[in-house]
Amino acid sequence: NYGQLLLDDASDPAQVADFAGNIVRESERVAVIVRNLLAFARQDKESFSEARIVDIVQKTLSLTNAVLRKDQIRVHCDTFSRLPSVKCRSQQIQQVLMNLLTNARDALNERYPGAHEDKIIRIVASVVERKGTRWLRLTVEDHGGGIPPDAGPRVFDPFFTTKPRDKGTGLGLSISYGIIKEHHGEMGFETTLGKGTTFNVDLPIDDEGTP
Ligand code: ADP
Repeated sequence: NYGQLLLDDASDPAQVADFAGNIVRESERVAVIVRNLLAFARQDKESFSEARIVDIVQKTLSLTNAVLRKDQIRVHCDTFSRLPSVKCRSQQIQQVLMNLLTNARDALNERYPGAHEDKIIRIVASVVERKGTRWLRLTVEDHGGGIPPDAGPRVFDPFFTTKPRDKGTGLGLSISYGIIKEHHGEMGFETTLGKGTTFNVDLPIDDEGTP
């Protein structure tokens, strides 16, 4: 519709800029939705194979680094290359990490619109033992505003978002949760209001159940 309005009348430069901005923002929003849905739908196509978490993290960062740098956000990475590999659909795990980074970025930008020494996202990969099983844990930590108690139980719900319409779809975490469940993994978070949020993704290391 904005495109059509521009075709009809492009005489006012301020209005042209306004409409063009809307086209760009809405297209980006749709791109995020489509990327998420594709990542979820692609699960039948991409097979499970052994992947190193350090490679997944690096590939994801190569996609997000430019945007993070523009927002003056630094990424501290603690992903040891010696960690055991996991059997996974690596593109889907990339998508999960991308969603977590996007949320951390939004939280940091909301708290600190400009530059700030705490504008850091920390990514840690480690091995944890729980329920007699070894898990590869991927952690994404930010010092944004945290998740309010009333929002906490709903963040994994489809279409739950607290962001403005041009920023949030409410699909990122619900789709990520679905992807991790498909991997027989677990996903959770810890948050402190006004201090920050840490999301954990646990993937089973010696899982016999995956195809
Ligand atoms: P979206 O990012 O499009 O809103 P998500 O499903 O990814 O959708 O997230 C749902 C909601 O969870 C967000 O709108 C936000 O309120 C909350 N949330 C998720 N991650 C964070 C975070 N790191 N810090 C603060 N709030 C978060």
